[in-house]
Amino acid sequence: MGRLSRVTAPVLLSGLLAVLVAAPAPSRAGGGFGDLQADATFGVEMTFSASWTGAPPDRVELLLGFGGEERLVVPVELVSGQLAYRRDLADGYVPPNTSVAYRWRAVSGAQVTLSPERSLLYDDDRPGLDWRQAQVGSAMVHWYDANETIARRFGDLAGGAADAAADLLGHPLADPIDIFVYDTREDFQGAVGPGAREWIGAATYPHLRTVYMWLGAGSTAYLETTLGHEVTHVVFHDATANPFHEPATWLNEGVATWSEVGNADTERDLVSLEARSPDGLMAFAALTDQFPIDARGANLAYAQGTTMVDLIIHDFGTDAMAAIAEAYRSGATDEDAILAGTGVSFETLRGEFFAAFGVSEPEPVEPLPLGRSDVPIPPQAGVVEPAPSAEPQPAPGESQDAAWWLIIGFVALGAVFFVTVVVRSRRARPPAGGGDS
Ligand SMILES: [Zn+2]
Repeated sequence: MGRLSRVTAPVLLSGLLAVLVAAPAPSRAGGGFGDLQADATFGVEMTFSASWTGAPPDRVELLLGFGGEERLVVPVELVSGQLAYRRDLADGYVPPNTSVAYRWRAVSGAQVTLSPERSLLYDDDRPGLDWRQAQVGSAMVHWYDANETIARRFGDLAGGAADAAADLLGHPLADPIDIFVYDTREDFQGAVGPGAREWIGAATYPHLRTVYMWLGAGSTAYLETTLGHEVTHVVFHDATANPFHEPATWLNEGVATWSEVGNADTERDLVSLEARSPDGLMAFAALTDQFPIDARGANLAYAQGTTMVDLIIHDFGTDAMAAIAEAYRSGATDEDAILAGTGVSFETLRGEFFAAFGVSEPEPVEPLPLGRSDVPIPPQAGVVEPAPSAEPQPAPGESQDAAWWLIIGFVALGAVFFVTVVVRSRRARPPAGGGDS
């Protein structure tokens, strides 16, 4: 069962039935909502219900917001004065600890009646996860089984990591964070969702201010370093928050990774090594959104981002990082933010970066033209063959192929967008050494 939201019940330790009762909200027409209730079971469903008194409105809708994002409007039928909506989450993923804002809306002609807005906490209430929690500084740490000591240790470390990131980025942690400590890989993978990569050992959803840690991801030293990395992502999110776009991923991951130890010595060695490899380095334009999936590409992406951040700090000081963050807050593009922070163009910085490794900046790779399809398509009944003309004719099936490629292109675009959103939000990185231990 989901727990009561923090809005209405700041401290509720056990997984109780989440029932939020609102006073009826009378409207000018005399109708109003009452008995607002909501409940959730992680990975199964969310349910919402309410009653309506008064004349039936033209239509009723449930307005849903997930973690401050993704506003949905769901039409709901009024039956004998009752409203009920079930959202199936067996196939759809929503991260645990998402606060779901909801309210009901009745529309009759030009008249709109809104219920009060309430929130439901979609928490990880899977069987066997007997969560305990404690406030440690600016972090609420959550654990189950015998993991209280390490959970509290994470809470202590989170405060120091947040302070260090705030110094670097010139902006404090805006609000407390939640840290969930998972014991088994199965529990952790279930929490971070079906799109998670195998090598993920920790994950963060900055907009939820939530960090998920897996204790089996590595040594204690690795876990502590990773915790600092993840907390830095949340501060970076606060320091660069704007309504227009996410900062470049290489910068976000570069700052988080640089903050682990305060330098890029290890990462520079990797970049230097890969600069001499046949595949070479990657263009920063390729590291703006999703990082590569393969181990070499992922590790090199983190290393390049970290080394570029180190270059900026070395050449222009930490004040430059704070100025870059400040520029993002005012809506600057990546290029403008770097120019505002350093006084030099990103092109110049990239030139310096690649020159330091004795290579030139990678050029964009032009896509090859699609070849002709070799899939035979039988003649279609009722299709009139076009009259011969001087123009070259498409090969049999070519026009159909073009339509299919268009469809496949749209599907692929959608998939990439989804994956990009998930991965960008997750801010995970490979465990040290690139393994998945
Ligand atoms: Zn990261």
